[in-house]
Amino acid sequence: MKEQTLAIHAGYDKDAQGTMAVPIYQTTAYEFRDTEHAANLFALKELGNIYTRLMNPTTDVFEKRFNALEQGGGAVGTASGMAAIFYAIANVAEAGDNIIVASQVYGGTTTLTGHTIKRFGIETRYFNVNNPSEIEALVDEKTKIILFESITNPSIDVADFEAIVAIAKKHNIMTCVDNTVATPILCKPLTLGCDIVVHSASKYTTGQGLAIGGIIVERENLVEMIKGNPRYAHFNEPDESYHGLIYSDLPLPPFTLRVRLALLRDLGATPSPFNSWLYIQGLETLPLRMKQHSASALKIAQYLEAHPKVKSVNYPALKSNNNYALAQKYFPKGTSGLLSFEVESKEVAQSIADKTEIFKVVVNIGDSKSIITHPASTTHQQLSSQELIDCGIPAGLIRLSVGLEDSEDLIADLEKALS
Ligand code: PLP
Repeated sequence: MKEQTLAIHAGYDKDAQGTMAVPIYQTTAYEFRDTEHAANLFALKELGNIYTRLMNPTTDVFEKRFNALEQGGGAVGTASGMAAIFYAIANVAEAGDNIIVASQVYGGTTTLTGHTIKRFGIETRYFNVNNPSEIEALVDEKTKIILFESITNPSIDVADFEAIVAIAKKHNIMTCVDNTVATPILCKPLTLGCDIVVHSASKYTTGQGLAIGGIIVERENLVEMIKGNPRYAHFNEPDESYHGLIYSDLPLPPFTLRVRLALLRDLGATPSPFNSWLYIQGLETLPLRMKQHSASALKIAQYLEAHPKVKSVNYPALKSNNNYALAQKYFPKGTSGLLSFEVESKEVAQSIADKTEIFKVVVNIGDSKSIITHPASTTHQQLSSQELIDCGIPAGLIRLSVGLEDSEDLIADLEKALS
């Protein structure tokens, strides 16, 4: 099936009542047929619903639909994008291990990798996403995953998938891509050789800024790289917390299964059924919306590029952009609704943001409503000046999340604020 059809139908036909819209299964738990049925479900001899911290029929549709759009081998929903990123790391790394992360990532990912997981004994080594050859020198036998964003937030760089995947494959290390900004409509990292995709579903997936959520998707046949791989010994050895289960021996997607059985079981950042239902509604129109977000953002980027008060514009579909060639290669359908531009100073940036009317001062992206953000004083405020430089965030940088309003109105709003 084609993508727009998958976005509307994948993962759901009808329930026992013939319900056309996906029902919200608002329940904590599920009645078992008898105790033997319950025991079989817990022992994975039979697959089925146990408890909503682990699975839920509405969330199951969200997971199957997202998995179909990413062309993955299995997916698991989480309560937020940050939970998805943390679980992707915690699923492979433990105290004494290290992970390799692009410096240009969302501020929450920088604080998670640079501070929070450090306290768990996991070291983060950073590379410049514009220079993937730096990865090679960072790898050792304790490296568990290479994490980067397909289109970076907020510096709007584009990852060179081929270069990163080549190094990862050479060392048999998993790659994990935060594909939130691109969405599976503009880029499918699993088809480019990556192993894991994570998303904040809070952004383009809901599309209207309605709920916080996330998802992890693994590629098909990931088990082939995990099986016997000493980096991922805990997937190949008996899990004592699960009666000696060996994940790589099961005919199920091992990465997302382990997130569900071990991490959702013990840490519990599970999506609510109602939020999963919202993501399902959002996915139905995602292909149409991403086309419109990308087309409007390009018009606005071209307008800003010609404005005398703007020092530079970061939007990879602009011919003048350093990432133009990579964007043409990996994002032929458009480069999403996120762009950033630099003005003279922090004060000028803040005054522009204060003057816009349609663009609202908000820390979110991927909404139908346009948003203007000053990262240095908000999303990235907790970063040191060196971390800000490493992330590509000068004090005068403004980020726009271009919504679905008429682009002429949006340009008029910026014209007034810049005058
Ligand atoms: N990844 C990216 C690229 C983001 O922009 C964000 C949030 O802005 C996140 C992850 C975190 O997602 P959430 O807010 O759903 O936890």
